[in-house]
Amino acid sequence: MTFKFAYLKLTAFYILIVMIISIGFSISLFKISSNEINRGLGQQTNILRNLPFNDRMVPNFDQIRKDQLGQSNVHLKINLIYFNLLILVLSGIISYFLAKKTLKPIEDSMIAQSRFTADASHELRTPLAAMRAEIEVALRDKNLNLNFSKKLLNSNLEEIEKLEVLSVALLKLARIEENTKQKFEIISLEDIITEAFEKVEKLADKKEIEFQVKLKDFKIKGDCQSLVELFVILFDNAIKYSPKKSKIIITMEKDKNHIVVKIKDHGVGIKASDLPYIFNRFYRADMSRSKEQVDGYGLGLSIAEQITKFHKGRIEVTSRPGKGSEFTVKFPV
Ligand code: ADP
Repeated sequence: MTFKFAYLKLTAFYILIVMIISIGFSISLFKISSNEINRGLGQQTNILRNLPFNDRMVPNFDQIRKDQLGQSNVHLKINLIYFNLLILVLSGIISYFLAKKTLKPIEDSMIAQSRFTADASHELRTPLAAMRAEIEVALRDKNLNLNFSKKLLNSNLEEIEKLEVLSVALLKLARIEENTKQKFEIISLEDIITEAFEKVEKLADKKEIEFQVKLKDFKIKGDCQSLVELFVILFDNAIKYSPKKSKIIITMEKDKNHIVVKIKDHGVGIKASDLPYIFNRFYRADMSRSKEQVDGYGLGLSIAEQITKFHKGRIEVTSRPGKGSEFTVKFPV
């Protein structure tokens, strides 16, 4: 509703500008044309005055000139009014489309923003509601013993940890979006990937997952901290969604325009129907929710995509359910 009103307001504003220009132009055109006609008629009158008329037939040249000028002005005015009406209709149609085009991205981002807020609130509320329910039940229990209290506290602690993970992810998203003025420096992708790997090494060891890494000494311009973050997210996902004792392969290549990093796992894969959405905030594919529940909020890949975009790069994925996924990150050289 607010946006419909905004479309109309902007349309009216565009029309107003066009009509001010068009009417101003028409008035000037009318004045110039009227002067030109008057001048032409004056010349014509002078020529006619020099013709040999017989005395009784000398016409009233000034009156004729005045009448002709009056008629021409009336025709000119009518034509200009039609012209302006046409401009009004055309500018109305064009302005409406332009207003829609101008406001559409703003409307989309507002819708996305409010969806994000709703999703974030929902995710924040779930652990809070769980904690509240547990505490209420415990408080009602007259025979509450130490053992049960400890269990309750442990369970609450788990929920608090979830809340912490979520708030850290939300903060990261906000920080990347705001952070446009960050100072870029020339950094070695090899160092970035090594640092990211060190951060997930323990998780990989826990699942006995082998990382096969073929690194090259490529350099890009970027922000060190967020690039490490990007690869931690991708490595962490590869580990999370892979079975024990599987292999994750990381390769680097360089073509004419890009440095390409590929992260290939042999995990659960992603269904084709989920692929278009996995970079959306809070989106989690069915497989990550099913049987072996994997922790997460569906924010990692949207953070990864933001970081890549921030570096003018691209992130792509190919996947086959049951066979594994391959994430490709491309940075411009
Ligand atoms: P999270 O992992 O916290 O759920 P992400 O945004 O990192 O959120 O990922 C979104 C979804 O994409 C995941 O829920 C999962 O379904 C899918 N996904 C991401 N990476 C992989 C991967 N390497 N293998 C299989 N599925 C993946």
